Formats: sequence, structure tokens, C-alpha cells
Amino acid sequence: MRIGFGYDVHALAEGLPFVIGGVRVPSSFGCVAHSDGDVAIHALCDALLGAIAAGDIGKHFPDNDAAYKGIDSCILLERTIGLLKAEGYKVGNVDITIALERPKLRPHIDSMRARLAEVMGVGIGAVSVKATTTEKLGFTGRGEGVAAYAVALVEELPKE
Ligand code: MG
Repeated sequence: MRIGFGYDVHALAEGLPFVIGGVRVPSSFGCVAHSDGDVAIHALCDALLGAIAAGDIGKHFPDNDAAYKGIDSCILLERTIGLLKAEGYKVGNVDITIALERPKLRPHIDSMRARLAEVMGVGIGAVSVKATTTEKLGFTGRGEGVAAYAVALVEELPKE
């Protein structure tokens, strides 16, 4: 077994779609980003890559590469799982915490878990998503941005 950690931040701005945890959340604002700005998936990919010491999301999917402009981050997660498998590992379980003042994410948590589990090819019980505010403190508290933290446990695939 190996463990990895990931962290990501995106700025928020009015008039952009808000995609987080693979789900489109109704909101008047969304993430400023080269991709779809899915901060939860980016943190998760970094945790998975970290678990196999394979660098970070920016190394594998550069944000100055036109190929990734506006890309659905679920595709990045799918490719990250491919890298993990190529190294001989599978996902054990993952745990994500999102720090955001608003909108309330609670109604969307289970949809995120289901979507992320589907993309990673694991059971929903292996995927935890939690959300917290930061009590109006800092950039998340002021609504200027959203942050996500993720840990991932990966397990070595049996050798053939
Ligand atoms: Mg990001």
C-alpha cells in the first residue's frame, strides 16, 4: 500500500460554470481555469500521482497545452487511473475535503461520490467527499476562491 496527498486552489469569478467533483453545481460563479477548473478532481489526481511518486497533474497535463483547454477533468482523472494501473496499482480509497464558503455543497456530495467512483472504477464506499466553510476567514471565506485537499491510498495489483 502507498499513500498520496493533493492540494489545489482556483479563483472564483461570476458568470463561469461551477464544476466540482465531476458535477455541475448551480451557481452564479465558477472557477477561473485552463481546464473546467474542477479543484476537487485536481487535488485527487495529485494525491493519486503522489501515491506512486509520479509527479503532479501539471507535469502530466500542462495548463499551457491547448489540448487541455476547457477539458472535462473527469478525463484527466481517467488518465491518471491509467497511469496508476500502468505502474501496477489500483485505488484503495480516497478522501477529499473541499473548502468553500458558498454555495452549500451538501446536496451534491453523493452525486460527486458516485461520479468519481464511476470514473475511477471503484465502489462508492471507497470515495469520501466532505465540504467545509472556513468561517468567513481567508480567501475561501471571502468567496474569492475554492480549495480542495485529497488523500489517496493505493494498493499494489497482484503480480501475474
Ligand atoms: Mg487546478
